[in-house]
Amino acid sequence: MFGIWGHPDAARMTYYGLHSLQHRGQEGAGIVVTDGKRMKGIKGDGLVNDVFDEKKLDSLKGSGAIGHVRYTGKSGIENIQPLLFHSSSGSLALSHTGNLINANDLKHQLEMQGSIFQTNTDTEVLAHLIKRSGYLALKDKVKNALSMVKGAYALIVLTEDELIIAQDPNGLRPLSIGKVGDAYCVASETCAYDLIGAEYIRDVEPGELIIINDEGIHEERFSLSGSHAMCTMEYVYFSRPDSDIRGINIHTARKNLGKRLALEANVEGDVVTGVPDSSISSAIGFAETAGIPYELGLIKNRYVGRTFIKPTQELREQGVKMKLSPVRKVVEGKRVIMVDDSIVRGTTSRRIVRMLKEAGATEVHVCISSPPMTNPCFYGIDVSTHEELIASSHSVEEIREIIGADSLTFLSVEGMLKAIGREGLGKNCGQCMACFTGEYPTEIYPDTPLPYEKEME
Ligand code: SF4
Repeated sequence: MFGIWGHPDAARMTYYGLHSLQHRGQEGAGIVVTDGKRMKGIKGDGLVNDVFDEKKLDSLKGSGAIGHVRYTGKSGIENIQPLLFHSSSGSLALSHTGNLINANDLKHQLEMQGSIFQTNTDTEVLAHLIKRSGYLALKDKVKNALSMVKGAYALIVLTEDELIIAQDPNGLRPLSIGKVGDAYCVASETCAYDLIGAEYIRDVEPGELIIINDEGIHEERFSLSGSHAMCTMEYVYFSRPDSDIRGINIHTARKNLGKRLALEANVEGDVVTGVPDSSISSAIGFAETAGIPYELGLIKNRYVGRTFIKPTQELREQGVKMKLSPVRKVVEGKRVIMVDDSIVRGTTSRRIVRMLKEAGATEVHVCISSPPMTNPCFYGIDVSTHEELIASSHSVEEIREIIGADSLTFLSVEGMLKAIGREGLGKNCGQCMACFTGEYPTEIYPDTPLPYEKEME
């Protein structure tokens, strides 16, 4: 998500911001802009560049804008954010990342009271709650709506007059504010600021609500902060290496994960290689600590999206074949230590191991810079169901055999926490680790929809 207030070309800035955040979702993109009187939006399937061109950006005039790249969930253009609603009392646009775990219940209640829904998203539930609130000021309407929802959300709301930002009480998804000239901006990751020449100001705190309008910036709370629980997978896999989350640089965190992994793994090899892109930093850290040369053993085809977040198994399978190639001269005749960030279903690891062996590697030792993933995520990251998570039903040795590796090592939970290095935030160092430990930082409802099956009843 990206948002900006007080810039003469807000839509173009949002376009560049979204471009930097493209790794967070490739299924669709949208921008809504306001000129103070009207609001207009454009959205579509695919990458930011597929959806927007000069002409479309020129048509989005105004000094306030929000944008979104779509990660997962039900297809259909109506589900692409930002969602934009018009009414006699004014327009409202919303962008939201995360997952509202009580959305089904709330939607049911709203429908009983006469609401009609146009999309399958939990974001629309939020829009209804905001619009129906009896309060007059938008900030109070948003606060009232947020008091009813549970789960993970980083939220940006845009009207003709202001931009409102909120972060859930556990701070599960990253969100920060920055400044470019006199304009304030907000982004899921700090890497968005570099491209537009903005200066990072600070992260949005759990339970905080920030209002930005022509009078400036105003900070409030809508909830006491719960226990901090930033998503650990943001550090391990999801975010870009040049972003910082809660003061910790992602590349540095990943390098430390690799260093720690090298200390915990008991493997010998001739070269260390990382699975591009998210595991390169960990592989460098591993190689440094193990004293084994780091080499580019795998090359990524830049023009294929991440297999992990394609919506169907069939597309995932096709994606892996197109995505990676081994560098034969690097791995031929070598014992290769292959560092990857995680094993979800095991299919990708199996293919990569086979690919490296077919390219002449004599041994392939797989080292994973996170613990076995045994539980689904209910907070907006598609890490699959219990049944699909290979580590929820197989031992490490069984997984090793399935993926065809000569050895398999996962990083320990303690090692992961130490490597990321968020200290002094109580239990779990302020991290959510539910997909590794099963300890969810919020209550989970029996019918809590997983992010990619968010077609609500
Ligand atoms: S369950 Fe895992 S992926 Fe989901 S928010 Fe927690 S750490 Fe992140």
